[in-house]
Amino acid sequence: MTAFDTRLVHAGEQRLLDGTIPPVVRSTVNRVAPDAAYEDIRYPRLSNLPNQTTVADKLADLEGAEAGLVTASGMAAISAALFAVLAPGDHLLMQSVTYGATHVLACDFLRPWGVEVDLVSGVDSGSWRRAVRPNTKAIYVETISNPLLRVTDLEAVVAFAREHGLVSLADHTFATPVLVPGARIGIDLVLHSATKYLNGHSDVCAGAVLGSAARIHDVKARLQLLGGSLDPEAAWLLHRGVKTLGLRFRAQCANAMRIATYLHERGVTVHYPGLPSHPDHAVARRLFGARFGGMVAVELSDAAAAERFMNTLAFVFPGPSLGGLESSATRPAATSHAKLGPAGRAEQGIADGLVRLSIGIEDADDLIADLGQALDRL
Ligand SMILES: *Cc1c(COP(=O)(O)O)cnc(C)c1O
Repeated sequence: MTAFDTRLVHAGEQRLLDGTIPPVVRSTVNRVAPDAAYEDIRYPRLSNLPNQTTVADKLADLEGAEAGLVTASGMAAISAALFAVLAPGDHLLMQSVTYGATHVLACDFLRPWGVEVDLVSGVDSGSWRRAVRPNTKAIYVETISNPLLRVTDLEAVVAFAREHGLVSLADHTFATPVLVPGARIGIDLVLHSATKYLNGHSDVCAGAVLGSAARIHDVKARLQLLGGSLDPEAAWLLHRGVKTLGLRFRAQCANAMRIATYLHERGVTVHYPGLPSHPDHAVARRLFGARFGGMVAVELSDAAAAERFMNTLAFVFPGPSLGGLESSATRPAATSHAKLGPAGRAEQGIADGLVRLSIGIEDADDLIADLGQALDRL
């Protein structure tokens, strides 16, 4: 098979107007032939304009999937996928520690709609077995969870889903197909906040769903009703950004490994799946090989220390979101996991002094010096 980096550049390309770089095709009114079917109508909300399909096809190829769909945000991808797979009366197994909005979607929208939701552990397959029922339809996990970077054994999820006839969904945002192609190992619907690593430049909000042609057809039908299609201009930017995913993400993984090692050796409590001390290190090695992602979490004594630390960093930008070229830091208790409340965070093991770092492509020595001086000043 053609190598990953070659497919990053060439997969899905449509060579519109014979250029290496496609134009942005924005037209909302497009000619319809007299014998055209409904599917032939070109319209942005139907997600069938060339900028949308080019990048969707490329992402599908990278994840080892038959088909792909890009969306207006990661949440548009997640909601369209869940509403396509589930119906009232169905039962969903969902990892208890997920992206905050995903958790709220399941508990505050799927449940009132009539879907039974059981929250299970991502790392304890026994909790899936205990919760599965005759009406269980799907299992939803995150490959690498936020913010403690626990690694879900996707091979075990696939085996479990096949054994019980479930649809498997994995939010692959933190892992990316660089660590492991989600659909190739058998996940039915691979989900992304493309806002993060896939675009990689902190300037586009987008999402993606990758899977079989039949499943993507269903998700697309749902997205057309929910209305979360990706604007062609944003699709063009995502297409531009994703071509360097391999170069960027490998540099971020290498930097993160060095930084995590440095922090660990300094005696700081650090969560990084690449460290032998991480509880899921063996699973991560089997699933990912020699790279472990660009996210690192550190535990400082309390909220005040964490805030002081973040605000004395010179290169590491204090702000939420992740996956950009520039390193950034955020305190999940105040940002991504604020809505959980103190009890919810305590249940998930998210301390007030936890700082989540998104490692960029700067020089690792500069980043280590920066983190070191901020720790010295605590
Ligand atoms: C950011 C994020 C989302 C939501 O994506 P948006 O693009 O902000 O809608 C979902 N899952 C994970 C893991 C994320 O980091």
